[in-house]
Amino acid sequence: MGLKNLLGGQTLPKETHLEVLPPHQVVEHCFCPNGHSILSDQHQYDGYPGILLKLKAAEQEGLLSLSPIIGDPARTFHNFRQQNGDVIDICCPVCDTVFPIYNQCGCGAHLIALFTSQKNDYSDCIGICQRIGCLNAEIISGRELRLLDRVNYF
Ligand SMILES: [Zn+2]
Ligand SMILES: [Zn+2]
Repeated sequence: MGLKNLLGGQTLPKETHLEVLPPHQVVEHCFCPNGHSILSDQHQYDGYPGILLKLKAAEQEGLLSLSPIIGDPARTFHNFRQQNGDVIDICCPVCDTVFPIYNQCGCGAHLIALFTSQKNDYSDCIGICQRIGCLNAEIISGRELRLLDRVNYF
């Protein structure tokens, strides 16, 4: 754009898109309802600390780490035999508190909320499904959770 545009009374194009998505949207903070950080330096994804969760099923307990990169489905089970379809309790690895249910998932199980601030605010959380196999679903942001909220599954 020329100097004329800067000085003259011409209006800038209305459709100026300044919103540029960063290359990665990374979960930088993640807490249990008791305020424990569940990001783990021992479980890194692309150099970012992964989200560490404790899984409890009827006959076994293990850990699950998730990539903190939004949209990245990478995850690793530790000492946990995956049985697709099982619905499991997802707990804080520090205090064992079960994460609260946020919503119904499309698969019929529940989405649980992982808080991204220590305010335990459902508008500030990410959600994952309790069902093994459906954990293939990527981490979804609070915004997407709220979109899901408007979908009536029943
Ligand atoms: Zn905790
Ligand atoms: Zn699900």
